[in-house]
Amino acid sequence: MEGSTLIRKIHMVCPLCDRTHEVEERRRIATITIKGDKVSYEERFLYCVNADEAENEFVTGSMANENLLNARNGYRVKHGLLTSDEIVAIRENYGLSQVDLARLLGWGEATISRYESKAIQDEAYDTMLRLIKDNPLAALEFLKKNADKFSAMKRLEIRSKIVEKLDTYGKEFLSRQAFEAEYASFDTKCDSNGFALLNIDKLEAMISYIAEKVSHLYKVKLMKMLWYADSLSFKSSGLAMSGMVYRHETMGALPIGHYALMNLERLNVKEEACGDYDYMLHIYPTLDMDYSILTKADKKILDAVVEKFKDYKSKAIIDYMHEEIAYTQTGQGDIIPFSLAKEIRDFL
Ligand SMILES: [Zn+2]
Repeated sequence: MEGSTLIRKIHMVCPLCDRTHEVEERRRIATITIKGDKVSYEERFLYCVNADEAENEFVTGSMANENLLNARNGYRVKHGLLTSDEIVAIRENYGLSQVDLARLLGWGEATISRYESKAIQDEAYDTMLRLIKDNPLAALEFLKKNADKFSAMKRLEIRSKIVEKLDTYGKEFLSRQAFEAEYASFDTKCDSNGFALLNIDKLEAMISYIAEKVSHLYKVKLMKMLWYADSLSFKSSGLAMSGMVYRHETMGALPIGHYALMNLERLNVKEEACGDYDYMLHIYPTLDMDYSILTKADKKILDAVVEKFKDYKSKAIIDYMHEEIAYTQTGQGDIIPFSLAKEIRDFL
């Protein structure tokens, strides 16, 4: 009773004196020992003025639960662990159920439910929760690691919920990762990549640079212009510019991973309707692109490619490329080696 504060009076049947009267609901700071440690917390209780001093307090079932939760959260705060409310907030931020978050982290199904209601998490579990707290990319890593815990449909659903939480940086990182994955088997300098490793920063600068100078730049035309830029660079210096690997396709040279390339978050690509059911990808310059990654020699080559092809329609640049030795001497689907690419007709 001493050191407690009155919250309100409740008219009820009192289990201590068996009478109906105003029972006081009060709160105070209490201490409890958890895991051998003394913890202070706020406790709520009911008080009967009619009963003996020795036994004049009681709690309802839900009050007892709440007191215990407060005590455990007191322990968590004291030990720098996430509180149950913070764990709920992390889960709700991703829009996940308790079972789904537990599976995502590779834990037993009931683990999150227990942490949100009663049990105190181990430090290792706490660290994992903090990892994903403000970092959807880390959450995606867990999803990859524990993919087998979900059906394919459920995995996609959870993935899209996490991706929704990505900021610009996260989206950019993810789009680069997808493109880089296409080049996993081209991690050494060789004839296929023109003795240059994939350089996405440079490639983005090349594309935006071309887009600044060519007003109607569509995907097919851009792909040919990139091949010409890489081939000219290899011809003049023995090194390609972007590090991309190109295949012989019906429409001419096409870089590996070109779908992922067009999805790079930093590129300014817009879908434009073309007929009723189709669309074309129109490439625009990126507003704040940093061109300092391009050398003087790179720019000279890009300028020459722009000057040569800027007024070509897609069909015309495809026809032009079809005449190159690199095309006539390779077959459908073959990688076009730069040793052949350097035989292009000169226009520098
Ligand atoms: Zn009473």
